[in-house]
Amino acid sequence: MTILGTATAQAVHIQLPWSELFLRTVVQELDRFWGYMFTEADKAEAFHSPNVQWYTLEDEKWGVYEQSDPTIINTECGRTSVAPAVYCPADHSIHLDIDGIDRLIAATAAASNMDGDAVAVFIIAHEYAHAVQTMARISLQNPRKELQADCFAGLYIHHSQILQGGEDDLDEIAVGVLKAGDYIHDHANHHGSGMRRLHATMTGLQGNVQGCINAEF
Ligand SMILES: [Zn+2]
Repeated sequence: MTILGTATAQAVHIQLPWSELFLRTVVQELDRFWGYMFTEADKAEAFHSPNVQWYTLEDEKWGVYEQSDPTIINTECGRTSVAPAVYCPADHSIHLDIDGIDRLIAATAAASNMDGDAVAVFIIAHEYAHAVQTMARISLQNPRKELQADCFAGLYIHHSQILQGGEDDLDEIAVGVLKAGDYIHDHANHHGSGMRRLHATMTGLQGNVQGCINAEF
């Protein structure tokens, strides 16, 4: 099933780093994908594209970084770390640190034969999934909330025309998700162990939204 048409990058800001152009195209596709999913679920009126705030360390006009920790920004949700992306429900915004994502892409590329693009897409798709949870009024405790966000990210990637979900991309996501797992099970912000996060992502990658909604993770 092809939900999304062929995506084309629109070079409206040619001075931007390639990753921001690429990521903007991903956000546009996420808007189309989730808009379609809400319409299919007869909940079109609940869907509102989240705002995306782009941050870069070199762009001083933002003036939002704290000197002591450059990953901390002030949002409607209070002081929060972007490192490299975070969703704030209070202003329905995804805050993205372009430099942080650039570094992550470079680190992934350096540590493997992979190019890092799939990891960047996964991070944005995961934060977008939190916006979806808010719009759909899904209320879960961690780590189930985080695992469902991984599942929704996998679901989008299954349907993405940008990534195409080649074996390289899926390997890259698997490596990234395993690495991102945490093992502090009694922490309120526990996102799930690497294996649980991978399992949740794989559930989404099967392409069925109900798999993410019904799963116990
Ligand atoms: Zn999350």
